[in-house]
Amino acid sequence: MVDNNKHKGLRRQLVKKLINKGISNKDVLNSIKSIPRHLFMEKGLEPFAYEDKAYPIAAEQTISQPYTVAFQTELLNLKKGDKVLEIGTGSGYQTSILVNLGCKVYSIERQSKLFKKTNLLLSKIGYMPKKIIFGDGYKGLPEFAPYDGIIVTAGSEEIPKALLSQIKLGGCLVIPVGIKTQVMTRVKREEEKKFTKETFGEFRFVPLLKDKI
Ligand code: SAH
Repeated sequence: MVDNNKHKGLRRQLVKKLINKGISNKDVLNSIKSIPRHLFMEKGLEPFAYEDKAYPIAAEQTISQPYTVAFQTELLNLKKGDKVLEIGTGSGYQTSILVNLGCKVYSIERQSKLFKKTNLLLSKIGYMPKKIIFGDGYKGLPEFAPYDGIIVTAGSEEIPKALLSQIKLGGCLVIPVGIKTQVMTRVKREEEKKFTKETFGEFRFVPLLKDKI
């Protein structure tokens, strides 16, 4: 689990790239600067860890592009101590960014291979969330709701109703919506039954699966 000066230098360059692409939240940028993304990559792909690109991980999934991770995290507008639900743990990179922000993180993954691997990795490197759960996140995680923020890291055909009901008043859901490509969407819960929706451009994600367990 080596993290040397070369890695740190590459991370500083990555942070500069993200600033140039419009990311401005200091806490998010600091988290990108601190988290050793190379530890989340598959063997052989470590040299590319600080490219601003998505790469394959186990179970035919992907580790999201750093820009996408930073963009989604910025949209969540989190502060220390907030309770966050992440759907799609994947490599755990996004999870560790949320943990580094000081949030109480609940993360769900439906691929057992990734769930096991990432659970072990996050505990080894000290970025363990409050809970990692193996299961279908399409229905959210009502046991621990409501959440200040819910982040979906896979593309969804529509906004799952169950997730809306698990947002705290004043909180929000950040979800890429679409089939082939996805529009980044933020839904804020203004009042018990009043939600407002904003959209933020196109992205490409692996699909959010429904009822597959
Ligand atoms: N944030 C992760 C993204 C991984 S890709 C990272 O940067 O590594 C999206 C992940 O969502 C995949 O691991 C996939 O298995 C998971 N996923 C897809 N549908 C899901 C569902 N219904 N419930 C939970 N996880 C799901």
